[in-house]
Amino acid sequence: MSDKIQAIRGMNDILPEDAHWWDFFEETVKNWLEAYGYRTIRLPILEQTALFRRSIGEVTDIVEKEMYTFEDHLNGENLTLRPEGTASCVRAVLQHNLLYPGPLRLAYSGPMFRHERPQKGRYRQFHQVGVEALGFEGPDMDGEQIVMASRLWRKLGINDVRLEINSLGDTASRARHRGKLIRHFEQHQDSLDDDAKRRLHSNPLRILDSKNPAMREIVESAPKLLDELDEDSLLHFEKLQIILNELGVGYTINSRLVRGLDYYNRTVFEWVTDRLGAQGTVCAGGRYDGLVSQIGGKPTPACGFAMGIERILSLIQEDNGGVSPRAQDVYVVHQGEKASKFAVIAAEFLRDHHFSVILHCGGGSFKSQMKKADASGSGFAAIIGDDEAGACEISLKPLRAEMGQFRMGLAEAVSWLRSQSI
Ligand code: ATP
Ligand code: MG
Repeated sequence: MSDKIQAIRGMNDILPEDAHWWDFFEETVKNWLEAYGYRTIRLPILEQTALFRRSIGEVTDIVEKEMYTFEDHLNGENLTLRPEGTASCVRAVLQHNLLYPGPLRLAYSGPMFRHERPQKGRYRQFHQVGVEALGFEGPDMDGEQIVMASRLWRKLGINDVRLEINSLGDTASRARHRGKLIRHFEQHQDSLDDDAKRRLHSNPLRILDSKNPAMREIVESAPKLLDELDEDSLLHFEKLQIILNELGVGYTINSRLVRGLDYYNRTVFEWVTDRLGAQGTVCAGGRYDGLVSQIGGKPTPACGFAMGIERILSLIQEDNGGVSPRAQDVYVVHQGEKASKFAVIAAEFLRDHHFSVILHCGGGSFKSQMKKADASGSGFAAIIGDDEAGACEISLKPLRAEMGQFRMGLAEAVSWLRSQSI
């Protein structure tokens, strides 16, 4: 006997019982993107490995240990399952010259792949929605994107995420800060963990991103990048804060906030909740003015953010006690030859009027059919015997309320069902 084949660890099936939440989220996101003039772009899941190495950065968690990279045995190409969307998005923009007519607002969504230790809110296949605005330099765009995210939380009914912002300045400010950081961490060599020791000279900024509680104190006492900011970046950051203040978006400045990817500069931000433990960041992003030229395009300022759909859905589901709303409107039960013929007609009629309907298949007594109707999660049963069929009528019985049943013609059934706030 062979072992049962199971899904790959950290790669989840999304079961029908959760589908409603995904539908709700995707519908809300679609309207929200339209409201801000973002157009969607659909990107491949596989890319050349070089794309991610060049954009995300060699000395990052993602490139060092999280990417699913393999050689295509048919032609020897080195390929990677995308760990994030920004690099592919910028690659596509350049490949198709999308910036030619002017600045651009783009959105993408779909699965991302990272070889991490699976736990609640951290998976090996997970899903993101991301937005990218290319060709915008001023802090008005950073502000718009942050306000935009806060509108989404309202639309989704999430009210306990907080905003943290920081500025990473320009290359020169990071270089100044880097020298000071190295000196600071060198003085605390003994307390550094292995990751930090390895990064000390290659990418010390990443050490600030450490999730190791043992490193907390040395990270807290490290020199702040904000103290090294160049004048333009400082001004940019101050203007962003004015915009957020004017729009009433609350935030805290977190001087340790750096992102796990190398391409960020100036504004970085995260939306965080306390409800998901170490997986508390539901949305993260910022400015990446250098990325377009790094991938081979003309220098183009840009900013964007990505959110983790699984983390957001677990917040929404928790808020709603995990109770999924009604699966469909009507379950049609029927018995008798005439009744079964009329049941098909009745079901089609209700569907013509935009109700969702399950027509019972497979026969059985009224009693057993009613049990199935109840278990199906439908709001109403439509009961059809030969008697009803002879009169072209149905008997409607609410399944989620203590009420009797009501017999009526099909047109009347449509208005009655509507009046029951379906
Ligand atoms: P973390 O610090 O939690 O590892 P990150 O900095 O690696 O996150 P980003 O690359 O900025 O995350 O991705 C944006 C968002 O995607 C995160 O804020 C999170 O909501 C989500 N995300 C990232 N990695 C995972 C994962 N392995 N499983 C589920 N969601 C994830
Ligand atoms: Mg990560």
